[in-house]
Amino acid sequence: MKVPMLDFNAQYEPIMDDIKAEMEKVFTSHAYKLGPQVKEFEEDMQKYCDVKHAIGCASGTDAIILALIALDISDGDEVITTPFTFFATAGTIHRVGAKPVFVDVKPYTYNIDPDKIEAAITPKTKAIVVVHLFGQPAEMDKIMEIARKHNLKVIEDNAQGIGAKFEGKTAGTIGDIGTLSFFPSKNLGAMGDAGMCLTNSDELADKLFMLRVHGENPQYYHKWVGLNSRLDTIQAAALLIKLRSLTGWSEARRKNAEYYYKNLKDISHIKLPVIHEKAETIFNQFTLIAENRDELLNYLRSKDIGCAVYYPLPLHLQECFSYLNHKKGDFPITEELTEKVISIPVFSEITKEQQDYVIGNIKEFYTQR
Ligand SMILES: *Cc1c(COP(=O)(O)O)cnc(C)c1O
Repeated sequence: MKVPMLDFNAQYEPIMDDIKAEMEKVFTSHAYKLGPQVKEFEEDMQKYCDVKHAIGCASGTDAIILALIALDISDGDEVITTPFTFFATAGTIHRVGAKPVFVDVKPYTYNIDPDKIEAAITPKTKAIVVVHLFGQPAEMDKIMEIARKHNLKVIEDNAQGIGAKFEGKTAGTIGDIGTLSFFPSKNLGAMGDAGMCLTNSDELADKLFMLRVHGENPQYYHKWVGLNSRLDTIQAAALLIKLRSLTGWSEARRKNAEYYYKNLKDISHIKLPVIHEKAETIFNQFTLIAENRDELLNYLRSKDIGCAVYYPLPLHLQECFSYLNHKKGDFPITEELTEKVISIPVFSEITKEQQDYVIGNIKEFYTQR
C-alpha cells in the first residue's frame, strides 16, 4: 500500500470541473488583474472567518510583509516570535528591517509559550508575530493580554490554521492583522501561490488594499511604499470553488486525527500532540514526538508511507540569522522538538485502510526494537 502526505488526485477529482468552469470565465473576460473572482473570494473569506476585511495578496509570505508594513514596523524595531515555525515567519521580520526576537514554545502544543514572552520585551519591542502551528491556535487570551499591557501589535501568522478557533473566535481575526497562505499544500491550497490578510480595522484594511499595489491610490499617486502583491484572478477562481469544500475537509482531518489518537495512544515510545482546552485545531499536520525519530522516518518511508519533519533546524540556528548570535541551548524545547517530531499523513481523503497501515507500521517499528 502507498500512503502519500497529500493526495491531490483525490482532493481535486470531485471539484476539478467546477474549477475549470470558473477559470474559463477569467479566460473569457481577460480580467487577470484583480478581476471579479478576487472580490468574490475575499467576500466569501470574510464570511468564512467572520471578519470585517479580507485582503488577497500574492503569497502567505507577502501577507506577513504587508501586515508588518501596515503596522509601521521597520528598522530598529524588535518583533517577538517563535523559533519553531516555517522560515517565512521570521524571514519577513528581517526583510522589513526589524529584528526577530525568539521565545521558546511549549513542549506538546508546539506553540509559543506566553509565560516566556514578557521576559523578551524591551523598549524596542513593537509587535508579536504569533504562529498557529500545524493548525492549532496559540494561546491568544494570554498573548492579547500581554500585548495590551505593553502596547504591542499582534500579527497572527495563520498560514497553517485557516478556520481554526480559540475560545470560539476564528484564528487570524483576534490580533491586529491575521495572515493566510494558500500555498498548494495548505488546507486551502491554490494552484500556485496566493495569500491573504484579515483584519477588523477599517483603517488597516484601507492601508493593506493600497500596500498590495505599491501603496497607490489613486493610480500613480503613492501614499506609502508597498509591494506588487495582488491575488491573481486565476488563483482566486480556483480558491473560491475550493473554499466551498473547506469545512468538510477540516471535519475529515479532525476525524482522521481522532482515529490516530484512539489507535496510537498506547505506544509508550511516542507522544501525541496536545490540543489546548480552548483551542479547536484543523490539523494541517498531525505531528507526534517519537523516540528514534530518524529511524522511524526511514522505516515508514521504506513502507511507502509519506511522512515529514517540520522543522529540522530551528530558526535561531539558521545561517542567515547568525548575526543574532544565538547558540545551541538558547531555546531547548524547540531544539528538542526539531530532533523528535514527525508528521504523518492526516489529509482529508485518507482512507481507514491507509490509516490502519500507518498505525500498523508504527507499532511494528517499535515492537522490533
Ligand atoms: C506556508 C507558511 C508561510 C508562507 O506562506 P507562502 O504562501 O508559502 O509564502 C508562512 N508561515 C507559515 C507558518 C507557513 O506555514
